[in-house]
Amino acid sequence: MTLPRPAHQRILLKLSGEALMGNDAFGINRETIVRMAAEVAEVINLGVQVAVVIGGGNIFRGVAGGSVGMDRATADYMGMLATVMNSLALADAMSKAGLTARVMSAISIEQVVEPYVRPKALQYLEEGKVVIFAAGTGNPFFTTDTAAALRGAEIGAELVLKATKVDGVYTADPKKDPTATRYDHITFDEAMSKNLGIMDATAFALCRDQNLPIKVFSILKDGALKRVVMGEDEGTLVHA
Ligand code: UDP
Repeated sequence: MTLPRPAHQRILLKLSGEALMGNDAFGINRETIVRMAAEVAEVINLGVQVAVVIGGGNIFRGVAGGSVGMDRATADYMGMLATVMNSLALADAMSKAGLTARVMSAISIEQVVEPYVRPKALQYLEEGKVVIFAAGTGNPFFTTDTAAALRGAEIGAELVLKATKVDGVYTADPKKDPTATRYDHITFDEAMSKNLGIMDATAFALCRDQNLPIKVFSILKDGALKRVVMGEDEGTLVHA
């Protein structure tokens, strides 16, 4: 008997900082991060190469600093440093789950994590290590969604997996409109014309230009990551 094979060989998983909070109001919820590491372990064990971009919104967002009078670029650097904290926590949880994870930062802080070097990241992926990209793009005024699109394109990921709290893209907000239905798939152009706000405009444009499909799925649903990787009906695919 041959086992079903994964539909994707190399993926880029984008986890928002908020996804790490669980039901807490702030910070990193240990149980949640342990569960996420276990979900990633499931797909690594299928032989899939996994890179992760992690957000920082559970700790600090540049816009929040900017709105209370801070210099926006400085606030954005704080946001990027928040993603490094999340990356360390995730790498720790992954090693407890039996995985080997490497954090690579877009901002150099070499005593803490290694710098991002593309060929090295590719080598780690080939070796079955999880690569966690920290510090976003390394530039203020961007988001970690844009970092996900950028790193996804750089490493030749077949798919960017955008983990959210909702199990896909809906015709309307399913919390407000009970008749809202989920799209199985939608084109970049349709998503744009319908203003569905899947990722910020820069990230979305980069994926579209590079013909890098995005899968929006729920990180709260057990086993959803594996089902996406296996090509099962899960979430919404945004494609050319
Ligand atoms: N950030 C940045 N440049 C980047 C990525 C992130 O300046 O390339 C900063 C920005 O302030 C942002 C914060 O880091 O608000 C945290 O990232 P993000 O808001 O994307 O996290 P998420 O919403 O995914 O938790």
